[in-house]
Amino acid sequence: MGTGRLTIDLAALAANWTALDAMTGCETAAVVKADGYGLGIGPVARTLQQAGAKRFFIAVAEEGHALRAAVGPDADICVFSGHMEGDTELLDAHGLVPMLNSLDQVLRHFERLPGHPFGIQLDSGMNRLGMEPADWEAVAEIALTQQPVLLMSHLACADDADHPMNAYQLQQFRKMADGTGVPRCLAATGGVLMKPEYHFEMTRPGIGLYGGMPFADAKPVVHLDLPVIQCRTVQPGETVGYGNTWTADRPTRIATVSAGYADGITRHLSNIATLWHGDTPCPLRGRVSMDLLTVDVSDCDGDPEVLSLLNDRQGVDTLADLTGTIGYEILTQLGARYGRAYSGL
Ligand SMILES: *Cc1c(COP(=O)(O)O)cnc(C)c1O
Repeated sequence: MGTGRLTIDLAALAANWTALDAMTGCETAAVVKADGYGLGIGPVARTLQQAGAKRFFIAVAEEGHALRAAVGPDADICVFSGHMEGDTELLDAHGLVPMLNSLDQVLRHFERLPGHPFGIQLDSGMNRLGMEPADWEAVAEIALTQQPVLLMSHLACADDADHPMNAYQLQQFRKMADGTGVPRCLAATGGVLMKPEYHFEMTRPGIGLYGGMPFADAKPVVHLDLPVIQCRTVQPGETVGYGNTWTADRPTRIATVSAGYADGITRHLSNIATLWHGDTPCPLRGRVSMDLLTVDVSDCDGDPEVLSLLNDRQGVDTLADLTGTIGYEILTQLGARYGRAYSGL
């Protein structure tokens, strides 16, 4: 079983896309950057395409090769980082649509790939990527001479629907994008869950597809089961693991599990995570090692052979909350040593 089995429920993935699509009256694209949020871009993208997605977003052109191979020639593939210096051949070879982020990128694109489709990313206040409002009027005169396929921007605080930044960015985006006649796209998962005025002609959810940022009807996509290598009883006063950070106060049955921080189980989870054996919670005791976890299985009926870290009860956001991170990071750190199984389709 190696360091564990990661089961990715493709039927749940497809159901999540369909549910997010049903929340709006517009086109729903899919963000599959970072290897489909760590779950495998090939099976993920093919599943979303079968569910109905026609457009995919990736972060950098290098991700385009595997995605094009998965979805075939007809799907649209958009690249958030735009047209960077070394990207021309990849954009051309795989028919990728860059979201141009600056005047320099616009000029580079028009010069090197004339007639090749492109979109424009506008910065509506996040100050991360895209044309700034102050520059847009002048750049628009050049950029809008060729027909962009999309004007997009990104919300900084969409995980908090009531945050005043959302309304501010909506207004900034509209100032730049309205009246251009070009399709507009502002909403990622958080924006889909907000009012219809955030939806425009297209949305582009990512995390919500994969079981993070749960919405009503969201289905868990990832299950992680870890094999137990051996069990031992630790006596009161004895310690477990590196640094002696946990001491038994009663006879305790400890299971040693084959997975560790090299598999993306961050060391910050030491002494605070819970694994599950069916309905029985099994607290992690001591430090997370590179390849091993030590888990208190005293409450189990007999020694378990497998313990679960991600399941319907404990999703990526629950695990993320324990260490002050987000489900996105849990997903994209899932290790390469796990056996992967795709189920449900
Ligand atoms: C990652 C990303 C998304 C997807 O966001 P989710 O919160 O995962 O839905 C959308 N747009 C941009 C620009 C992104 O970087």
